[in-house]
Amino acid sequence: MIYYFGKSKTDGAGDMKALLGGKGANLAQMTKIGLPVPPGFTITTECCVHYYKNGKKHPEGLDVDMKKAVTWLEKETGKKFGDPKNPLLVSVRSGARDSMPGMMDTILNLGLNDDTTEGLKKATSNGRFAWDSYRRFLQMYGDVVMGVQKRHENEHEPFEEVMHGLKEEVGVKEDTDLTEEHLQELVARYKKLIKERTGKTFPTDPMKQLEGAVSAVFGSWMNERAILYRQKYRIPDEWGTAVNVQSMVFGNMGDDCATGVAFTRDPANGENVFYGEYLVNAQGEDVVAGVRTPLKIAEMAKDKIIGPAYKELVDVRKTLEKNFGDVQDFEFTIEKKKLYMLQTRNGKRTALAYVKIAHDMVKEKLMTPEHAVRSGDPEALNQLLQPIFDTKAYEQAKKDGRLMAVGLAAGPGAASGHVAFTAAKAEEFAAMKKSVILARIETSPEDLRGMIASDGILTCRGGVSSHAALVARQMGKVCVAGAGDIEIDYHKGTLKCGSVTLKEGDFISINGSTGEVFHGLIDTADSELKQVLVSKTLKPADSKVYQYYNHIMKLADKFRTLGIRTNADQPDQVENAIAFGAEGIGLCRTEHMFFEGDRIIAVRKMILAENDADRKAALAQLLPYQQKDFEGIFKALNGLPACIRLLDPPLHEFLPQHDNKKGQEEVAQQLGITVKEVQRLVEELHEFNPMLGFRGCRLGICRPEISEMQARAIFQAAAAVLKAGIKVKPEIMVPLVGFKKELDLQVEIIHRVAKEVMKETGKKFAYTVGTMIEVPRGALTADEIAETAEFFSFGTNDLTQTALGMSRDDSGSFLPHYQELEIIKANPFASIDTTGVGQLMKIGVDKGRSTREDLKIGICGEHGGDPASVGFCHTIGLNYVSCSPFRVPIARLAAAQAALKSAKK
Ligand code: PEP
Ligand code: MG
Repeated sequence: MIYYFGKSKTDGAGDMKALLGGKGANLAQMTKIGLPVPPGFTITTECCVHYYKNGKKHPEGLDVDMKKAVTWLEKETGKKFGDPKNPLLVSVRSGARDSMPGMMDTILNLGLNDDTTEGLKKATSNGRFAWDSYRRFLQMYGDVVMGVQKRHENEHEPFEEVMHGLKEEVGVKEDTDLTEEHLQELVARYKKLIKERTGKTFPTDPMKQLEGAVSAVFGSWMNERAILYRQKYRIPDEWGTAVNVQSMVFGNMGDDCATGVAFTRDPANGENVFYGEYLVNAQGEDVVAGVRTPLKIAEMAKDKIIGPAYKELVDVRKTLEKNFGDVQDFEFTIEKKKLYMLQTRNGKRTALAYVKIAHDMVKEKLMTPEHAVRSGDPEALNQLLQPIFDTKAYEQAKKDGRLMAVGLAAGPGAASGHVAFTAAKAEEFAAMKKSVILARIETSPEDLRGMIASDGILTCRGGVSSHAALVARQMGKVCVAGAGDIEIDYHKGTLKCGSVTLKEGDFISINGSTGEVFHGLIDTADSELKQVLVSKTLKPADSKVYQYYNHIMKLADKFRTLGIRTNADQPDQVENAIAFGAEGIGLCRTEHMFFEGDRIIAVRKMILAENDADRKAALAQLLPYQQKDFEGIFKALNGLPACIRLLDPPLHEFLPQHDNKKGQEEVAQQLGITVKEVQRLVEELHEFNPMLGFRGCRLGICRPEISEMQARAIFQAAAAVLKAGIKVKPEIMVPLVGFKKELDLQVEIIHRVAKEVMKETGKKFAYTVGTMIEVPRGALTADEIAETAEFFSFGTNDLTQTALGMSRDDSGSFLPHYQELEIIKANPFASIDTTGVGQLMKIGVDKGRSTREDLKIGICGEHGGDPASVGFCHTIGLNYVSCSPFRVPIARLAAAQAALKSAKK
C-alpha cells in the first residue's frame, strides 16, 4: 500500500505510474538516478480506489503502514513528527496516473502545531518564518481538509479576508511586512475562523493531521473540477489518485532560498531554451498561484547568493531529458543554497510545441520515434489549424493605437471576441454563440468551465506557469497571462488600461503568440499550416511549422496499420484531404451534390414526377451534372479509391418544408404546378420517425431508376477520366442495408449499368460494390450480406441511433443530462459506444469475414475522426477509417498510437 523513496531504499520506479501515480513514480525515478529529492513515501492509487469502493474508508492496515512509513521517514531525515526540538514536516500531495494540474488538493507544512512551530523557530533561528509556515499550513488545512472555503465566485477567500483585515489594522501593505507577532495573531484568528465555520478544533497531533490530509486528497479526486477535468480529458474515474507524503524543504527561509518551476524546453513554442521562473524567499504555491509575478529562470544565474544552484539546475535539465526522454516540467526548491527536486513530469505543451519538440528531440536522439508519436494528443492537432490575426487588420489595429498592453505569450494563436469577467458570463456568451475572451485578475481551478467556454484567456497577474497559462496551454486556448498594466474591477465590471475602459461584453482581441492585447475586434486569418496545405499561399519550404508537423505525420504513418480516408463530396474537399494525408474517399455523399446550382430543380422534378416517364426525364437532366461531379472527384483523387454512396436521405429533405411557404411557392412556379400539389407531396414524403422511413436503399429499391442514373453517372465519369489517362477506382456503396436481398437488387442494377457503359464507351474499368452497415440487422446478418458485398463500411451515425433507439438529431436535448448522471461516459454520436454499438461492429466484422476472409471494412460515421473510436476500430481489425478532411491528421496520429498500443500488449 505504501512505497518509499529515499537514500536508504526506493521501492518504486518511473514505469509504475498506474500504481504510484505520475508524481510518485517520477519521484522514485529521480531518487534512483541520484537527483536531490527530499525523501518520502507514496500511498498507492489502489488505496484511493478502495476508499471509494468502501464508503470512504481507508483500507485495513493503511493507518498502521502509514505510522511505519512515518517512522522510516523520521530515521531517513533524522527528524521526528511532533518533536518540538527537531520537527519533521511533510507535504501531502495528490498524484494521479496522468497529471491533472491544479485539480486536486495539496497540503504543505503538515506537522506544525503551537509546539513544533516554536521548535521550527529555534531550529531555523527565524521566528517570522516559523509562524508564517504555520499560518500557511492552517490556511491550507482549513480549506482543503476542514472545508473553510469561499461560498460564491466573487467572494474573497475567507483566510485571505482575515489576513487582509489584519494588514489594514496594523497598517501594512504586503504579506511580507507582517511581523512574527502579527503572524501569531493571524494564527489565532485562523483557528477561530476554522472553529466558527466548522464547529471543530484544528487538530494538533501530526498523525491525526496526516490521516485527515490523506482522506482529503482522496476526497479531492471527486471534487467538481477534477471530475470535469477527467471528463474533458477522458481520464477514467476508476484510476484514483495516489498520495505523496514528502519531507518538507523550504524556499521561504530567507534570501538564500527560492522556489520555482521550469520546463526543459519552451512549452508554448517548443524552442530549445530553458524555460521557467522562480521567486526568492517563497513557497511553491506562490509561483503557481500567480499572486507574485516571478522572475525568469535565466535571471537566477546573476543572483549572487543562489547563482551556483542555477548551474546545478542546468545540469538537472539535461539529466532529466536524457532519462525521461521527453520535455520535463519540474518543480524545485532551494533551501539555504541547496537545490532539491520536488517533482517532474512530462510537460504539457501546445500542439505547436509538441511537433517542434518531437521533431527536435528525435533528431537529437533524446526521444524515441515511438514516444514522439505516442506523446501527442491527436485532438490537439486542431490547434495548428487555429487562426492567427489577419496581417492587414493587425497592422491597422497597431497603427490605430489600439494596443493596450503586452503580457506573456502563454497560448499561441489569435482570438477576438466579447470580454467576460466571470466563468459564468463566459459560458453565457458562449451559449449565445458569441466568441468570448475570459479576462480575470488571475484564474483558479474554479474558472475551468469558463475557460472551456472561451476562445481566449487573459489574466493581469501570474507568470507562464500560472494556472491560466498551464490550463490554456493544455486546452490549446489562446492565452495572454500576466498583462500587468490591465486592471480588472469585478465589482464595477470594468477592464481598464491607461485611458481605455472596457465594460463586460465589449470587444477585445488577444495575440497569444506575442502577448499583445488590443481593444476592439481584429479579423483573423488562416494558420500557417492551412496556408501551406489548403490555400497553398505559403511554400512548405518557407514554413517551419509545416515541416515539424510533417515530420510527425511521417513518423505516425510508419507505425499505423489503419488506412485513412476522408468523407468528401467535392473536388476541393478531396484536394484538402489528400494534402492532409488522406488515402482515398471513404464516403462521398452524392446527395450533397444535388443542392448545387440549378440541379436542385431537376432533383425536385424527379421527386415530384407523377409517372416513370417524367421521372426518367428529370433524371436524365440530372445525369450530366452528376457525371461532371464524379469526373472532378476522380481527377482530384488521381487513382486513389473513391467510395461513392448511392442516394440516402429521405426525399422531403430536398423540398421546402411546411415552415417555408415562400420556398414552396417558388418550387411550384419553377415546376409549373400548384402550391397545393407541392404541399401535398411534402406531406406525403414527410417522415414521422425521422431517418427511419423511406430512405437509404429503400429509395433505390422502390425507385430503381435513381440508382440506375447514379450508377451510370459514376461509370460514365470513370470511363471519361480513364480516357484522359487518369486511373480510377470506384467503390459503389449501398446505404442502410439490413437484408441481403436489398443489396442483391441494387447490385443487379449496378452490374448491368456497368456492363452497358463499358460497352458504350469501349473502356474497361475495375469497380467494387459493397454496403454500409448502419442498422443492427445488417451487422447481425453480415455473413449473409457479405455473400454479395465486396466491402463494408460502418455508418456509425445511423448504427448508433438505431442501436440506441436515440434520434441523432434531437438527442442533444437529453444527452448532456445523461452524461452528468454518468449513464453514458461520452456522447455516443461523437465517440463510439464500444460496449453497445461496438459489439454490433465486432459481430459485423467477424460474421462478414467468416464469409469473405479478405473483406475490406471501414468506418465512415463521424466517429472515424474521433481518436478513441479510431483506437477501437484498430482493435476490431478494420482496414481504414474515414473522416472529414480537417480531421485527417488527427486520425493519422490516433491510428499510429493505436498500433503502438496494441504492439506493446
Ligand atoms: C452514418 O450513418 O454513419 C453515415 C456515414 O451516413 P449518414 O451520416 O450520411 O447517414
Ligand atoms: Mg447513415
